[in-house]
Amino acid sequence: MFVDVHCHLSFPDFDNDRNAVIDRLQEHNISLLIDPGTDPATSKRSIELSTFYKFIYPTVGLHPHDVTDMVPEQTFSELETLAASPRVVGIGEIGLDYHYHDHHPEQQKAVFRIMLRLAKKLDLPAVIHSRDAWEDTLNILNEEKCSNLRGMMHCFSGNTEIARECIRLGFKISVPGTLTYKKSSLPTVVHDLDIQDLLTETDAPWLAPVPFRGKRNEPSHVRFVAQKIAEIKDLPLETTAGIIKSTALDLFSLSATSDKHREKRNP
Ligand SMILES: [Zn+2]
Ligand SMILES: [Zn+2]
Repeated sequence: MFVDVHCHLSFPDFDNDRNAVIDRLQEHNISLLIDPGTDPATSKRSIELSTFYKFIYPTVGLHPHDVTDMVPEQTFSELETLAASPRVVGIGEIGLDYHYHDHHPEQQKAVFRIMLRLAKKLDLPAVIHSRDAWEDTLNILNEEKCSNLRGMMHCFSGNTEIARECIRLGFKISVPGTLTYKKSSLPTVVHDLDIQDLLTETDAPWLAPVPFRGKRNEPSHVRFVAQKIAEIKDLPLETTAGIIKSTALDLFSLSATSDKHREKRNP
């Protein structure tokens, strides 16, 4: 019933108890999970994990935190090769993050464009990470806009106006567990948007929702995000979860039965 469209289950944080975490997914009715890569190594691990579990799908990306002074050309060819793997459903995490001081903004922007062009070339949705960088993110998306550019803004942290601009550009708004925090401004954004434009995620192992705030997050907690969206939208939980799941299936070109592999589209 529930979907976690952004969870780093292949990260070492889950090495000691990954099987137990996966068992809890079934227990809590989480039927689809997207595990994004952040560089060639983590993208590869994510693809490997997805071969064992049919309801887990990988994406291939280069996180802005992993963008240094010089990204070797070889990194991009490695990523392109990985992205051609039949299980891969998207390109990401990619994007811009200006939160820390030594963030190489010019290099981040250049890499973001290269990766967006890969998404367009392979006709895959982009999984975008944008933190303290909305102006540049939206400018680049506007400049790179073309008919098959689409995707999701993961761990959305902007306001309604920014969300509407992202939606206009072909992106869904993915809501993390911070929605449940007391001081969060996300409830207003969720209230203002159409439910068809929303997705649910955990970004586990980070950002655990209430009542697990401060602890390691895990994908089964995504139900608390869906619950909160249902409350804000004044809809039954099942209806809410059903709409969000069909949005996710549609965005990532997956069929309703999670055991069926996605049809590979021609680039
Ligand atoms: Zn991120
Ligand atoms: Zn992430």
